[in-house]
Amino acid sequence: MSGLSRRLLIAAACAALAASCAPQAAEESAAFVNVYSARHYDADRAVYDAFTRSTGIEVRVLPAPPDQLIERMRVEGDQTEADLIVTADAGNLWRMQEAGLLQRVTTPALEAAVPDRLKDDQRLWWAFTRRARVIAYAKGAVLPQDVASFDALALPRFRGQVCARSSTNMYNLSMLASRIERQGADAARAWAQGVRANLARDPQGGDMDQLRAIAAGECQVAITNHYYYLRLAQSEDPAERAVADRIALAFPDQGEGQAGAHVNISGAGVTAHAQRRDNAVRLLEFLVSPEAQEIFAADNSEFPISDATPLTPALQALGTFREEAVPISALGRHQVEAARIYEEVGWR
Ligand code: FE
Repeated sequence: MSGLSRRLLIAAACAALAASCAPQAAEESAAFVNVYSARHYDADRAVYDAFTRSTGIEVRVLPAPPDQLIERMRVEGDQTEADLIVTADAGNLWRMQEAGLLQRVTTPALEAAVPDRLKDDQRLWWAFTRRARVIAYAKGAVLPQDVASFDALALPRFRGQVCARSSTNMYNLSMLASRIERQGADAARAWAQGVRANLARDPQGGDMDQLRAIAAGECQVAITNHYYYLRLAQSEDPAERAVADRIALAFPDQGEGQAGAHVNISGAGVTAHAQRRDNAVRLLEFLVSPEAQEIFAADNSEFPISDATPLTPALQALGTFREEAVPISALGRHQVEAARIYEEVGWR
């Protein structure tokens, strides 16, 4: 990229953030922090506002899809205005880490709040919420024992009855990456092939669209993150609650000798060239604090990172479940292979 287009891109970033882009010295003590965020949830604004109330530090957010954020930061290099990157999915954190966009941070508060499995070995990123990827099924048409395992979605029982979103979606890449880690590539391919053969329609839409398709009778089962179901169930719109009424959730693979439910994270890391590192670390610590954890649970129905945070009634109502023991780093490590497998079996 030319110097000019690079400067233009940086100027655009500054404008989007409403940041001054003043000389660095003047910003050292600035009472703000710039967040590049690939998360798309209203709960985050509530958390940032709570942070501002308790610290006086303003949170300026540049929202964009993960690919764009990574590309933008590559272009900006050490001139970046980003202090903290926030994203859903371990696969995205892994890509940011691989691109050299994050720096090592560790503090006693972070170490105490975040369980070992949910923080990067090198401390380049820290998880702040958990989400289970589960099976949603049509009440009545499907029995709980039919969906006791993700393996079931590949069985002839569900021929023409599976709705799915695109395999290029990071949630699906990480889900298959976890299977590659547990069972190897051949078994993962066989499973993806089986699910592909069972699809009711071409992959399309997001998780919510799969739930609506079940309620509309287009398919009997789909894979979704748990909070999308709760969003429908708790909606003020009766039509959305009616969708949830027709659906039940199964935490798959809970039996003895089974893997446990696939759980992914959202996480954040301080950028390699953060100009307001101290503010970024304070915000990172706030994201894992009890106050923020309760907001993420209440407003976005995500699971807290620590069992010490009480669950909301809605999360409690989902029931307890056992998580898979796959290292979070494996979700990133296998994602290229996961993409290749999906392509090979024709799950677009
Ligand atoms: Fe989501």
